[in-house]
Parts: sequence; C-alpha cells; structure tokens
Amino acid sequence: MYPAHIESYYRPTTVAEALAAITRQPEGDSMFLAGGQSLMQAIKSRMVRPTSIVDLQSVAELRGIDQANGLRIGAMTRYVEIAEYEQFPAAYAALRDAAERVGDRQVRNRGTIGGSVCWNYVASCLPSVVLALNGTMSLASADGSIRDVKAKDFIIAPLETARREDEILLCVSWPKPPPKTGSAYKKWGLVTDALPVVGMCVSISLDDLGKCRTAQVAVAGLADGAQIADAGGAALIGSAGDEASISAAMNDVADSVETHSDHWADASYREQLIKRLGVEVTLRAFARARR
Ligand SMILES: Cc1cc2nc3c(=O)[nH]c(=O)nc-3n(C[C@H](O)[C@H](O)[C@H](O)COP(=O)(O)OP(=O)(O)OC[C@H]3O[C@@H](n4cnc5c(N)ncnc54)[C@H](O)[C@@H]3O)c2cc1C
Repeated sequence: MYPAHIESYYRPTTVAEALAAITRQPEGDSMFLAGGQSLMQAIKSRMVRPTSIVDLQSVAELRGIDQANGLRIGAMTRYVEIAEYEQFPAAYAALRDAAERVGDRQVRNRGTIGGSVCWNYVASCLPSVVLALNGTMSLASADGSIRDVKAKDFIIAPLETARREDEILLCVSWPKPPPKTGSAYKKWGLVTDALPVVGMCVSISLDDLGKCRTAQVAVAGLADGAQIADAGGAALIGSAGDEASISAAMNDVADSVETHSDHWADASYREQLIKRLGVEVTLRAFARARR
C-alpha cells in the first residue's frame, strides 16, 4: 500500500533545527523518522498518517557511543554500530547481545536504538534491555529544556512511551557501573531474523563473596510489552550463581508475569522459554560480573 499524502519532508542537521521543524506543524501531524524500520511500515499501512516527516539521519550530534562519563548512546546510533562496539563494560554487555540479533542485516544497518525505544513495539528487544539495565532517556523540547526519564517511567505499554510528540530523544545513558556487574540478553523466535517470541535480559552485581547483591530481570515478548519482573530480581539476591538457585528464580519470573497465546506460541510455551532463556542469560550475566 502507498502512504497517504505527505506534504513536507525536512532533513535537519542539528537537534535545534529538528525541533523547530517538528513544531512547525500542528501537534501530531509531524513525525520524526530514524531508521524507518517500523515507521515506514506503519505509514504504508496507514496505521499512522503524518503530513510532515522530520528525517533525523543527518543530525550527527544524535549519533555515537561515548564512555567519557559512564555510557551514552546517541538516539540515532544504529544496531550495527552497537553490535560492533567492543568496549562495552560487562555491566552493559546485554546491549550488544541484543543489537547483534535484531532482525536481519538490513534492519540492523538502518534501525536505531532511539527508534526502537520510542516505538516500543510489543515484542521488541531494546525496551526490555533498557529496563533491565535501568537506562535514562534524555528528551529535548523546542523551548530548550531537557528532561531525563528513567526507563521504567519511559516504557509504558506497547507503542506507548512517556515521550511527548514534540520531544526528541537525544540519547540513552548510564552511570559508570559499580564493579562486579554483568548483564546478558537473549531472544528466541520461530524466525531468527524476526521479533522474538520471548526475550530475556538480566543484570546483576556481586558482593565481595561473589553473591548476588542486586539484580534486575526484564522480559520481552509479553502481551503488555517489555516488563520488569521484580519477583525474579528479588529471588536472585544472595544467589552464588548456581544453577539451582537461578532456576528457582526464573520459575518465580514465569509465575509473576502474564504470558499469552498467539499464532507464534501458546502461553505455556512462553513460560518454558522464560525459564530456559532466563537460566542461560543469568549464568552469562554472573560469568561476566565475575571477570
Ligand atoms: C524484518 C524486521 C525484523 C525485525 N526484528 C526485530 C527484532 O528481532 N528485535 C527488535 O527489537 N526489533 C525488530 N524489528 C523492529 C526494528 O528494531 C525497528 O527498526 C525499530 O523498532 C525502529 O527503529 P528505527 O530506527 O527504524 O525507527 P523508525 O521506524 O524510524 O521510528 C520509530 C518511531 O520512533 C520515533 N523516533 C525515532 N527516533 C526518535 C528520536 N530520536 N526522538 C523521538 N522519536 C523518535 C519515530 O517518530 C517513530 O514513531 C524488526 C523490524 C523488521 C522490519
């Protein structure tokens, strides 16, 4: 299907120009375009009908990964750049795990972290990763103000975030991680190159005895979108990283979230995936935290 008529197309080179362009139209008429991997489908199917497009691909200040002060990933940083970045601390390694397996090569070459979290599609990988890693989204408005929103307040429901339509996502950031912290992500889908049936992300930090001090577990692939599973995080505290305690914690995760049946998988299959993938990624997060 062809898109409905689009009246104007802007290709700004700075954030200020992008914000000026988005506010030129009445609220809701204009949309930012990042990698286009979700938005173009939505425009073609007429799920959304913007009359104006503000294409962010030439805004250089939205690109790049920087560790000068913690970790900062520009909103327009593409999956391929995250997948090829070899200097993530163990604490944030889940970002690379996820980016390496998003879609196919074409999707990874165009799609961006900012587009993924702003679209917040029901089974997307990155929303669950920013939740488990407790990322901060920085949003700028045309009036010059910038506000920081924690992932748990930003990710609301499928296709719904705390971003206002006239706000641009600048970056996702994290502080310098505490020592002995590790994370991991894995998805499973019927088609390798497509959205997951279930994805699991775990972040843990260890105390001096090698026991789990803090833990955060997030699940992708639920009907309600990416969710933090508080029960799983709490159950991992004190674990020495043995398979029995991790397995018990992942049973708690499966019990605490609502799984659904659809044409990809039924609810009990999703529960099994949560347990199996959960054990695998938690063992990897422990191994990374010990390094
Ligand atoms: C074949 C295929 C397979 C896929 N497989 C996976 C998968 O395995 N895992 C997965 O997680 N995802 C998958 N996806 C979805 C993919 O990750 C999308 O690319 C991503 O959700 C959107 O990123 P984008 O940069 O293309 O954003 P766009 O599609 O350009 O934009 C998405 C939305 O975000 C808004 N937006 C973008 N950037 C900003 C910004 N800086 N500030 C404010 N608003 C902004 C846009 O206005 C739009 O509403 C797949 C997609 C396809 C087509």
